[in-house]
Amino acid sequence: MSMNESTVQAGTLYVVATPIGNLGDITQRALQVLAGGDVIVAEDTRHSGRLLHQFQIDTPTIALHEHNERHRAPQIVERLQKGESVALISDAGTPLVSDPGFHLVRLAREVDIKVVPVPGASAMLAALSVSGLPSDRFIFEGFLSSKSGARKKRLEAIATEPRTLIFYEAPHRLLDTLADMVDIFGVDRRVVLARELTKTFETIKGDGVGNLLEWVRSDTDQQKGEMVLLVKGVTSDSGMANDAEAQRILKLLLEELPLSQASALAAKITGSRKKPLYQLGLRLAGQGDDD
Ligand code: SAM
Repeated sequence: MSMNESTVQAGTLYVVATPIGNLGDITQRALQVLAGGDVIVAEDTRHSGRLLHQFQIDTPTIALHEHNERHRAPQIVERLQKGESVALISDAGTPLVSDPGFHLVRLAREVDIKVVPVPGASAMLAALSVSGLPSDRFIFEGFLSSKSGARKKRLEAIATEPRTLIFYEAPHRLLDTLADMVDIFGVDRRVVLARELTKTFETIKGDGVGNLLEWVRSDTDQQKGEMVLLVKGVTSDSGMANDAEAQRILKLLLEELPLSQASALAAKITGSRKKPLYQLGLRLAGQGDDD
C-alpha cells in the first residue's frame, strides 16, 4: 500500500504510537494522522503539546486519562459517530499498553466504529528485541504492585513460568523489586534491565539477578530513568527441573531437616540434580532467609 492510501478517514478512531524517547521514532503515518484528524485525544495534553509543537501539528487536543476515561469515552464516541476522525495517543509508546485507551477502544468497537492501529514504538517490544532472552513466547506483566506483599505474591504466582517475563518498573522501586526477585526466583535467574531506551543514557544489562542487584546498588545512575525488566523463564537447562518449585520444596524441607538430607529429598521429589539444590540451600542459609 502506498502512503497516499493512508489518508485520514471520517468517523474513524486511530490508535497512534508515539516515540518512547527518541523523536526520530515517530512514523510518517503517525504524523499524517495526527495532522489530518479533527481531534487528538491525549493522556496529558501539555506533555503531548511539546511533541505536536515539534512537528508543527496544531490539531486540537482533549485529555483522556485514567481518572476521566469512563466519563469521556462516550463523548468521544459521539463525536466519532458524527463523522469526526479521532487520533488517540498516550505520553509515550503505544496507547493501551500500561496506558489509557482501553475503555474508549472497547466502546468504539461495541458501536461498530472503525478502529485503526498506527503502530510504532513500545518499550516492552524494544526491550525484548535486544534482551537476548527467548522471544518466541513471552508474557507482559505491566507494572508490579507498589505494595511489597502483593508484589511478592504475584512473583510467586509466576515463578515457574517457562516464558520470558516482561515488567515495567518505576526507578524508585527497582532495588526492592530486584531484591524480591532474588528471594523468589533465586539469585541465578537471568534478568535483563533495559533502561532509557532510545535515549542518551540507554543501558541494557543482563546478569543473574543477584549480581544485577549488586551492580544497580553500587551505581546509583542505574536507578534512574525509565526501565523495563525482563526475566528468563524457567527451563530445564539450569540443572533443576523447575527452579522455583524446587526452591519452594527445599525451603520447606530445610525447616525440618539438615541440608544434605533436605537437598537429597528435594532432588527426588522434583527430579532435579542434588548438587545445585545443595548449593541453593547453602545460599539460602547465607542470606539468613527470614520466611
Ligand atoms: N505505552 C508505553 C509503551 O508502549 O511502552 C508504556 C507506558 S508506561 C505508563 C511507562 C513505562 O514504560 C515506564 O515506567 C517504563 O517502565 C517503560 N518505558 C517507557 N519508555 C521507556 C524507555 N525509553 N526505556 C525503558 N522503559 C521505558
